[in-house]
Amino acid sequence: MTEPIGRALVVMAHPDDAEFGCAGTIAAWVRDGWHVTYVVCTDAAAGGPDEATDVSPAARGVITAMRKDEQRAACAVLGVADVIFLDEPDGTLQPTLALRRTLVRIYRQVRPQRLVCQSPIPTFEPVYAIGRHHPDHLAAGTAAIAAMYPASQNPWDFPELLDEGFMPHKIRELYLMGAPNPNHAVDIAATLEQKLAALAAHTSQVGARMHELRPRMTQWAATAGQPFGLDAAEVFHRAENP
Ligand SMILES: [Zn+2]
Repeated sequence: MTEPIGRALVVMAHPDDAEFGCAGTIAAWVRDGWHVTYVVCTDAAAGGPDEATDVSPAARGVITAMRKDEQRAACAVLGVADVIFLDEPDGTLQPTLALRRTLVRIYRQVRPQRLVCQSPIPTFEPVYAIGRHHPDHLAAGTAAIAAMYPASQNPWDFPELLDEGFMPHKIRELYLMGAPNPNHAVDIAATLEQKLAALAAHTSQVGARMHELRPRMTQWAATAGQPFGLDAAEVFHRAENP
C-alpha cells in the first residue's frame, strides 16, 4: 500500500446522499490517490417502501441492514476505503452536542484534509430541490460543520476527547453539497459512469428508477458544469480553513 496523497471525509445523513451529491468527485479523488472515508449519520430505517404497512422496529431493522449493505456496495464501486455508521434515528436527526462530539472524535481519528458534507441551508431552485430540504440533511450539515470549526482543531472544545487520546486536528477544506452559491466545480466527465454505477448499488432506493435517473443525473451534471465551462460536473461551495 502506498501512502495516500490525502484524506477526505464525507459526512451525510443517509446512504445514497453522497452518491447523488458527490460520488463523481469522490471517484476522481480516489483515482488521484486520495483515501476516502464515509460517515452515515442515520440508521436509514425510514427508507423503506412508501406502500409499507409494517413499520415495526423489526421491519426497520431489516431496512437498516439492507441499506448498509447497499452503501458498502456503492463504496466498493467508488473505491471508498471505509464507511462509519452512526445509527442515529432516521427522520429525526438533530445537530446535537452529542453528535458534534462524535464527529469531532472521528475527525481527530481519521485526520482528513478535506471534509464534504451537506449544506445546512436549503436552496430554493425551480427543480429537484426538495431533497435539499430534508431536515436530516440540514441537521447533518450543521453538525458536520460545527464539528470541523472550531471544535476539531480546538483543544478547549470537548476536553474529554484529549483524555481519550484524540488530539486536535485542523481540516483545511470544506466542500458543501447542495449549497446555494456554488463556487467550485469538479470535472466528473471521466467518473460519471462510476457515479451512476454507485448510485445503482442503492437498489432499494433507485433500482427501478435507474433508467430515468441516468438521463436526469447526466443532465444535472451538464447543467452544473455549464457555468464553469465543463461538460459534466458536481458543484460545491468550497471554503478554506487556512
Ligand atoms: Zn438523504
